[in-house]
Amino acid sequence: MDDDSGNKVSRRGMLARIAAVPALVAAATMPAVANAADVKEKEKQVRAALKDAKGTKLVLLGTGAGPVPGRSRHMTSNVMVHNGAAYVLDFGLGVTDQFARTGIPFGTVRSIFLTHHHPDHNIELGPFLIIGWIRGLKQSIKAYGPPPLRQMTEDFLRSAKVTIDFWAEDFKMKPLGMIDVHELPQPGAVMHDENVTVTSILVEHPPVKPAYGYRFDFPDRSIAFSGDTIPLESVAKMAHGADVLVHEAMDMKAVEFEIRRQIANGQPVSFDTFMKHMKADHSPVEDVGRIAQEAGVKTLVLSHLTPSLTSISDEEWRTQAAKHFKGKIIVGHDLMVI
Ligand SMILES: [Zn+2]
Ligand SMILES: [Zn+2]
Repeated sequence: MDDDSGNKVSRRGMLARIAAVPALVAAATMPAVANAADVKEKEKQVRAALKDAKGTKLVLLGTGAGPVPGRSRHMTSNVMVHNGAAYVLDFGLGVTDQFARTGIPFGTVRSIFLTHHHPDHNIELGPFLIIGWIRGLKQSIKAYGPPPLRQMTEDFLRSAKVTIDFWAEDFKMKPLGMIDVHELPQPGAVMHDENVTVTSILVEHPPVKPAYGYRFDFPDRSIAFSGDTIPLESVAKMAHGADVLVHEAMDMKAVEFEIRRQIANGQPVSFDTFMKHMKADHSPVEDVGRIAQEAGVKTLVLSHLTPSLTSISDEEWRTQAAKHFKGKIIVGHDLMVI
């Protein structure tokens, strides 16, 4: 059989390897592609929830952390819908498919935002624009994010010019041109339209600079996002009084376990270097509970989960966050409507 990268894999060998490892590891190594029936069912649920929606809705499109393909949790992306207008935050791999599954028309996307330039947050921005354009995305959309977002977008569209032009000729469409990009060299006010006011804060995610957290204030609901960061007082402040805080979260013990497994499988990384990076860049889930409590939010959504293993139950995530947070805790899953 072929694996996703086209390598020949002996089925017997693979099954033997999976059988030989403990449950947690098996879950990590099993092909995590959801089966078609599950995806269809989720699609039905998300569409029904959005159809009956009153007020602002948040859909988690991707809830896994890091640039890891082939998992049941896609890389990070979110969409918020208010009054028939959609606002997309982050563009990890899979965002275009996941967005399409919600049934939200591409033509309703008003503005798009990026927290920071790591591939699990920006790698599918270009494809989203081009496939979106074919599906009705408007040339008038506005993009907001850290520099060099303008240059990245220009370079991508330039590289895709020949394919855009073929499609434009085929379908008698106006070719997709450069979109309106607003680079954010500083945190603060981001944008304001008749649906939403958006602000950003600087978060700590070295060596990525700047990396932002965002707050979206809709008339009926405020939704804050930590972005990728260590636990920060400033995130609690930004999220103060918000209805929903979507915060990244990692389970330290499981991260240690997972990295040891990867090293044992030949991943060329040192345990100490990797753990140092995780501690300098991400938020243990217990601390996330502390921040949500301090912010006084109604609902904490754990997303960008590290490690993104289906073997860690929702209850395990929730229990750790609940040590300090007394409000409602939602463990993020792809295509969840909140
Ligand atoms: Zn990330
Ligand atoms: Zn990151």
